[in-house]
Amino acid sequence: MLCPWCDQEMKEGFLQSSRGVIFSEEVKEGFVLALREGDVKLTKHLWSTPRAPAWHCAGCRRVVVEYEDG
Ligand SMILES: [Zn+2]
Repeated sequence: MLCPWCDQEMKEGFLQSSRGVIFSEEVKEGFVLALREGDVKLTKHLWSTPRAPAWHCAGCRRVVVEYEDG
């Protein structure tokens, strides 16, 4: 995949965390994230570490993530 910002080849891998990762339009406070309408769960885990397919551009230090619904 070519980086949409700088057109260089991106490295394919995974966004991974010991906890789930979400996208939200505002900063959330607190230890446990409460999902609200509009929040997007990026990682998925079924008997494994939460992860999602991702591509990394070292040139502009950006990551593109592919997530599934649910
Ligand atoms: Zn880039």
